[in-house]
Amino acid sequence: MSIKVINDKCTGCTLCVKVCPFAAIEMSSKKAVIDLDKCTLCGACVDSCKFDAIELKRDSGKTPNLEEYKGIWVFGEQKKGVIQSISYELLGKAQELAKKLKTEVCCVVLGHNIKNNLQELIHRGANKVYVVDSPELENFLDEPYTNVLVNLLRKHRPEIFLCGATFMGRSLISRVAVKLHTGLTADCTGLDIDEKEKFLLQTRPAFGGNIMATILSKNHRPQMATVRHKVFKEAEIDTSRKGEVIVEEVPKTLLASRTKILDIVEEVTSTINIAEANIIVSGGRGMKSPENFEIIEELAKVLGGAVGSSRAAVDAGWMPYSHQVGQTGKTVCPKIYIACGISGQIQHLVGMQSADIIIAINQDSSAPIFTVANYGIVGDLFKVVPLLTAKFKKALNK
Ligand SMILES: Cc1cc2nc3c(=O)[nH]c(=O)nc-3n(C[C@H](O)[C@H](O)[C@H](O)COP(=O)(O)OP(=O)(O)OC[C@H]3O[C@@H](n4cnc5c(N)ncnc54)[C@H](O)[C@@H]3O)c2cc1C
Repeated sequence: MSIKVINDKCTGCTLCVKVCPFAAIEMSSKKAVIDLDKCTLCGACVDSCKFDAIELKRDSGKTPNLEEYKGIWVFGEQKKGVIQSISYELLGKAQELAKKLKTEVCCVVLGHNIKNNLQELIHRGANKVYVVDSPELENFLDEPYTNVLVNLLRKHRPEIFLCGATFMGRSLISRVAVKLHTGLTADCTGLDIDEKEKFLLQTRPAFGGNIMATILSKNHRPQMATVRHKVFKEAEIDTSRKGEVIVEEVPKTLLASRTKILDIVEEVTSTINIAEANIIVSGGRGMKSPENFEIIEELAKVLGGAVGSSRAAVDAGWMPYSHQVGQTGKTVCPKIYIACGISGQIQHLVGMQSADIIIAINQDSSAPIFTVANYGIVGDLFKVVPLLTAKFKKALNK
C-alpha cells in the first residue's frame, strides 16, 4: 500500500491534519505533507478530504517482489546476555517450517557484549545468526530495537519472521510490523505451511477462544507471528551443527532513544513460577472454596511442583491471577499437568495442552478435559487427591 498528497488538488484546508489519529500530517507551504514513518495507512485522511487530494493505493493480489523474500528469521531474545528459552522454542518450529519451504533458518540477536555467546543458537538449528552488538542495545528499548530490526529486515528480506509473545516481543514486534507495513498474528498456538501456495498458516484462538482461526498474510512480507512461551518444544541441541555468526553494523542514528532506563528491579517470588514448573497441579471451580486448595497445594508440594488454576477459580478470588493457566493466563508446558475439578474449556486447554502428560480428575465422565488427558480419573476429587498425595508420599519417601 502507498499514500501520497496530490499537491494540485490540496487546498490547505487542514482537515486531514485534524483527523489523523497518528499526528502524521503537517502543513508545509499550505500543502499537506505526510510523515510516512508515522502514517499507518489507516485511510482516515483520505475519507476526510473533500478535494480527493490524498491517494491511498491498496495492493490487489500479490505484490510483484514477493519472490525476493526468502528464509525464516527468529528473534533471539536475550536478557543480560542470556538467550531466553522462547528463542529455542521458535527455532524448533522454524526448522520444521524451513523443511517444508526448503529454505534456511536465521536468528537475529540485538544486545551488547553478546557476539561470542551465540553458538548455541547454531547448535539449536540456526544456519546463520545476525548480531548487532552495541552499548545502546544492552537492555531492551523500543526505539533502537525497532529501528535496527526494521533496517535488517528490509536489507535481508526474510519471508517469515517469528518472535516470542513476551513482554519484550509484544512491545517490539507490533512496532516493527507497522513500520514494514506488513501483517502480524499475535499469540499463535500453531504454525504451519500451506502445501499449495507456501503461505505461513498462523493459527490462534479467536472470538474469545470459541474458534481457532487460521490467518494468512498473502500480500505482504515478512509474514510475522508471535508465539507464547511454552507453546512449542525447544529445539534439540546438536553440537555437530555448523553455521555462521554475522556481525552487522547499523548507522548510529538508528540507536537513538527518547526513553532511557533508570533502574531495573527484579521481581522476587517465593513460589515456583508455573511457566517454568515441570509439574503443575491445578484446581478449578470443582474445588468449591479457597480453603480446599490446601489439598492441591499438598499434592504439589509432595511432587515438587507448582499450583495452577483455571480462570473460574481466579475470578472467584480463590487463587491469585499469577496462577491462572489458559488463554488469558499463562501458557505452560510441564512434564506432568494434573487438572482437578477443571472442565477443560478451550480457553483453558490452549494454555496447557502441550504438557507431556495430562492427568484429569473430574466427576463428570463427559468433561472435555478427558479429550486431551492421557490418564483420566472419574471420581470425587476430594477423595482422589488425598489418596494420590498419600501414595506419592509413600513412593517418594516424603
Ligand atoms: C475470553 C475468555 C478468556 C478465558 N481465559 C481463560 C483462561 O485463561 N483460563 C481458564 O481456565 N479459563 C478461561 N476462560 C474461562 C473458560 O471458558 C471456563 O469458563 C473456565 O475455564 C472454567 O473453569 P473450570 O473448569 O474451573 O470451571 P467449570 O467449567 O465450572 O468446571 C468445573 C468442573 O469441576 C468438576 N467438579 C465439580 N465438583 C467436583 C468434584 N467434587 N470432583 C471432581 N470434579 C468436580 C465439574 O464436573 C466440572 O467439570 C476464558 C473465557 C473467555 C470468554
